[in-house]
Amino acid sequence: MIYLDHNATTPVHPRVFEAMVPYLTEGWGNPSSPYRFGREAKRAVEKARARIAECLECKPNEIVFTSSGTEADNLALRGAALALAQKGRHIITSSIEHPAVSSTCRALEAQGFRVTRLPVTSQGVVTTESLVESLTSETILVSLMHANNETGVIQPIEELADILQRRSILLHTDAVQTLGKIPCLPEKMKAALASFSGHKIEGPKGTGFLYMKEETPVLPVITGGAHERGLRAGTENVAGIVGLAEAVVMASSSDRTDDLSKKRDRLEQGILERLTGVVVNGSSAPRVSNTSNMSFDLVDGESILLGLELKGICASTGSACSTGDPEPSPVLMAMGLTPRQAQGSIRLSLGKKTQTSEIDETVDALVEIVTRLRAVSSA
Ligand code: PLP
Repeated sequence: MIYLDHNATTPVHPRVFEAMVPYLTEGWGNPSSPYRFGREAKRAVEKARARIAECLECKPNEIVFTSSGTEADNLALRGAALALAQKGRHIITSSIEHPAVSSTCRALEAQGFRVTRLPVTSQGVVTTESLVESLTSETILVSLMHANNETGVIQPIEELADILQRRSILLHTDAVQTLGKIPCLPEKMKAALASFSGHKIEGPKGTGFLYMKEETPVLPVITGGAHERGLRAGTENVAGIVGLAEAVVMASSSDRTDDLSKKRDRLEQGILERLTGVVVNGSSAPRVSNTSNMSFDLVDGESILLGLELKGICASTGSACSTGDPEPSPVLMAMGLTPRQAQGSIRLSLGKKTQTSEIDETVDALVEIVTRLRAVSSA
């Protein structure tokens, strides 16, 4: 198998697995229990929190563990909206967010909040002008992703954040696709809230966390016991949290970027040299180094994927959360692609174990599949 879908998920790193095992075997205590066995589990959770805080250059009490990146996004958006509803009911987001944010915004609209979705340029970038134009005295929260999961395009978060900081408006950023790829320190990004996920960085699935700058007004979405300082009830996933911290530490010290961008460029150049009617979406914008989104004229992305699968190559048409959705990608449509162009697109996302030989094999496979599909469609 050639796995080129690392933006969907990554394999669990052996070090992550090793770190988790003790808490799935002998160390299975409940962190809320008052006796030593429970206190040991609690200590493991707090050590994990401190390790993550050190990597993110923030305080341990600014980290709230969640069950996923999706839950972190929900806590940020719903929690801040709930806490600030008296102040205003206007939320700004972009038209290219992951469903974890875009669907949550739709749910908030149904609850009486007004949502503005900022357009993006043809390269998939939100502009400062559009943000400034959309701000009102009612705006309580702006949620803009750090890098897009489909195209890898990086948003100018710090620049956008400057505008918001001057007006004391909260910024949330979904940094699920950037940790381990580019620097993403919340303080530097001037984000009050930032979401992260474990399984994109060789950590376990079903883990994530929300960075919440001290004193950010957020109310809990999941209520129950006093876990996570009352911000997220539910007995902690101790082994998952320990594995997540190990993954964050490794991601924060990784040096994969340069090498990956060389392989990604080799993939794109290989295709562009041998096929006509191909566009690399977002290629003129800053991108994370592992992601390539390409549109192929006259063919359907789903058919390309099928052809790749038959050759043992895993890729996707976009967000894994939209698999089976026949609609063209809203992200690519927001960048100005036609529905046909959007439907002729695929995403290839590399990982640190991706070999140059796998890139070359994928180029050969894509050239063959696209050429064959085009011949069939023109026959
Ligand atoms: N946000 C972005 C940008 C993502 O790419 C993903 C996952 O694909 C998520 C949020 C959701 O993360 P999780 O799978 O941990 O719920």
